[in-house]
Amino acid sequence: MTIRTRFAPSPTGPLHMGGVRTALYAYLFAKQQGGSFILRIEDTDQNRYVPGAEEYIIEALTWCGIIPDEGVGFGGPHAPYRQSERKHKGFYLDYARQLLQKGNAYYAFDRPEDLELARKNAEAEGVQGWQYDASTRMGMRNSLTLPEQELKHLLDQGTPYVIRLKVEPGQNLTFRDMVRGEVSFDSSLVDDKVLIKADGMPTYHLAHIVDDIMMEITHAIRGEEWLPSAPAHLLIYQALGIAMPQYAHLPLLLKPEGNGKLSKRDGDRLGFPVFPLQWEDPISGEISSGYRERGYYPEAFVNMLALLGWNPGSEQEVFTMEELMAVFSFDRVQKAGARFDPAKAKWFNEQRLRAMRDEELGLRFSLQLKQMLGEQDPRADVSFATTAAGLLKERVQFENELYETGKYLFEAPSAYDEKVIAKRWNEKAKVFFEALTETLSKTEEFTAEQCKAAFEKLANEQGIKPGDVLQLFRVIVSGQGSGVDLFGMVALLGRAEVEARIRRALASL
Ligand code: GLU
Repeated sequence: MTIRTRFAPSPTGPLHMGGVRTALYAYLFAKQQGGSFILRIEDTDQNRYVPGAEEYIIEALTWCGIIPDEGVGFGGPHAPYRQSERKHKGFYLDYARQLLQKGNAYYAFDRPEDLELARKNAEAEGVQGWQYDASTRMGMRNSLTLPEQELKHLLDQGTPYVIRLKVEPGQNLTFRDMVRGEVSFDSSLVDDKVLIKADGMPTYHLAHIVDDIMMEITHAIRGEEWLPSAPAHLLIYQALGIAMPQYAHLPLLLKPEGNGKLSKRDGDRLGFPVFPLQWEDPISGEISSGYRERGYYPEAFVNMLALLGWNPGSEQEVFTMEELMAVFSFDRVQKAGARFDPAKAKWFNEQRLRAMRDEELGLRFSLQLKQMLGEQDPRADVSFATTAAGLLKERVQFENELYETGKYLFEAPSAYDEKVIAKRWNEKAKVFFEALTETLSKTEEFTAEQCKAAFEKLANEQGIKPGDVLQLFRVIVSGQGSGVDLFGMVALLGRAEVEARIRRALASL
């Protein structure tokens, strides 16, 4: 059997990070098993269609490196993969007719106001949660209750109808979920779901089943919110006489506080993105931030998502996509919701940044600096940027923090840490730094080692403990009492710049 999984988002807005995680698990599983991962756009709800959402989904998956083998934007043998386009081919209606013929579905002519009335009447009698099912359907206008003549007449006249699933009550419905194990439902609680809507469009319930069958999906991986509908889906497969794919219902992503589903509002409230990419609402123009624009590496974002609801069974936390493919398994996906931790998300980015070779980080930093300082600025030079990045990388979580964090590598300080000055600056120190410019001008090469040796030698000669002037030297060069490796910084800045900075400090302190 060739494993085939799919990600089947509805283009109703930007893709939530929970949706990206669903795609990721489906992708990892398919790739691990040598199978295919398919992207299908479920756009049967025309009222909720949002322009740009489909493009956003494709761009987001591409950014994450979750690349479909088939589907919208990626080609494949089962085209079209957009449900609105598949509808015209009649696939969905064909299956609905099969169900009608077998007596597992029926026409219903109730108008929205009829349903509303039935609900109200039930409420008046103290019944909450009215639903269209075996206990109520015989009181409604459908092909089970209408005389044959009238039914024919209504259909001939083109009266709007929906097609509903006919659920037999009193059955125990059981299936094995890849995450939850065996799950059971009482069919008496399942409503007669609409399969084909009055506009002729299939609902999700029918459409995803028809597509999963036709696209030969072996494993249907989706969010926990679909678990309550699963028994109806099981019944549809049973009625069609087709084996159901294996289902996996993934746990919800929870708020950082742990109570309730993670929403965009939590992101706004606590200052983190809930979408992979920035999104501009086409109607309101409102901008929602994205992980990409915030400066996250896609590898870190994916790594973080993988561990939101799954664990490798070891202490390892940092994974590449290839490593995830090798070790991912549904056995280790948890049933309980997964609490999102914004600080941990940053931690993953930090790990990724630190793991990057200085040369690679330096090249990227150099491009950033060229934009800020100008193409020709020597400080944007690759070798300068590479050394600077190497010095700074343990001190930042994002690439876009490098410059601010290490500003003193690019500009002479305009102020000096007052606490350190008050504590350490005195006549002896002044004499030391006056001599230091001279000493430093004489080193053979201006390397960190030679500068350090010269510095210590001078301190010795003057009877000063190096510790008494080290922090002062840092403040003189950078303005700050702490920061990157001192002599690494000195070597990077170079003889002329360091000398100039010492002279400036001597003049102003
Ligand atoms: N279109 C559904 C959604 O966006 C997909 C659920 C599924 O994967 O079957 O939630």
